[in-house]
Amino acid sequence: MTAKIIDGKAFAENLRISIAGHVARLKQEHEITPGLAVIIVGEDPASQVYVSNKTKQTAEVGMNSFKHELAADVAEADLLALVHRLNADPAVHGILVQMPVPKHIDANKVIEAIAPAKDVDCFTPANVGKVQIGLPGPVSCTPLGCLMLLRAELGSLEGRNAVIIGRSNLVGKPMMQLLLRDNCTVTVAHSRTQNLADVVRQADIVVAAVGRPQMVKGDWIKPGAVVIDVGINRVPAPHKGEGKTRLVGDVDTEAAAVHAAAITPVPGGVGPMTIACLLANTITTASLINGLVPPRDLTA
Ligand code: NDP
Repeated sequence: MTAKIIDGKAFAENLRISIAGHVARLKQEHEITPGLAVIIVGEDPASQVYVSNKTKQTAEVGMNSFKHELAADVAEADLLALVHRLNADPAVHGILVQMPVPKHIDANKVIEAIAPAKDVDCFTPANVGKVQIGLPGPVSCTPLGCLMLLRAELGSLEGRNAVIIGRSNLVGKPMMQLLLRDNCTVTVAHSRTQNLADVVRQADIVVAAVGRPQMVKGDWIKPGAVVIDVGINRVPAPHKGEGKTRLVGDVDTEAAAVHAAAITPVPGGVGPMTIACLLANTITTASLINGLVPPRDLTA
């Protein structure tokens, strides 16, 4: 078997077209222009690239994009004051603080300052709790993107054995909640899991979110499984003329593709879905803030 390669880039493009349609409807029917505010502290090059992609795509779907660039040595109190101002600004429906923030700032304090109604990253305890009990609201962007890809690939996920490798608050844990809500039988593996290969061999669905290049081997994959590779790892390029480094996932894609029914590539799989789901969450929060039901196709 050679697995279908799931084209996350194309899926995300289509999702953004759908999001642009929802933005146009909110404008026309309700006179609401969804607005996303992004705060970046310092000049970390990777963060700069992420933020510029986010602001560009926000504007492309017709939303208002508000970018706030703060110096690396900004006082924590000033950052918190900006978050409070954005919490109170009716033109802003989503607030994102690009992580990591410099060490002198307490990231948890910043996250907790964001009004849950505008927490499009789904970092605040209130929204984490809502995902757990199935109340409407934003959902962690990367797991939401993975869920959309899985549903598109498999239809109903009910009854399937899902193994998630990684238990971070950012990916593994919210992924567990979403797959449980879709009636999967979920196992969450982590660094202390025994016989990981055997655990993964039971999985109809594998979600790898570890941060270890190509750790998941081909012969761990059950024939016909769907594999979602969240990992983004920069490694030295193997051949001359391919640049110094390249990106690989947490799965040995080529070897896994021999067994899997479908697999996400790295790059071009889960990555593009994350920003698209940030925009989806902004539609969700803009809808809920205005007493509207969020569009079903953009939520979990
Ligand atoms: P974290 O470092 O927060 O979590 C990694 C998890 O992997 C931990 O739960 C850890 O277990 C587990 N782990 C580490 N080593 C092993 C091992 N040998 N066997 C089994 N489990 C192990 O990472 P994130 O969840 O934030 O990110 C994971 C990967 O996904 C990274 O490569 C990151 O860059 C990528 N990522 C990609 C995104 C995208 O948009 N595509 C978005 C977010 C992340 P323990 O808890 O026991 O330490």
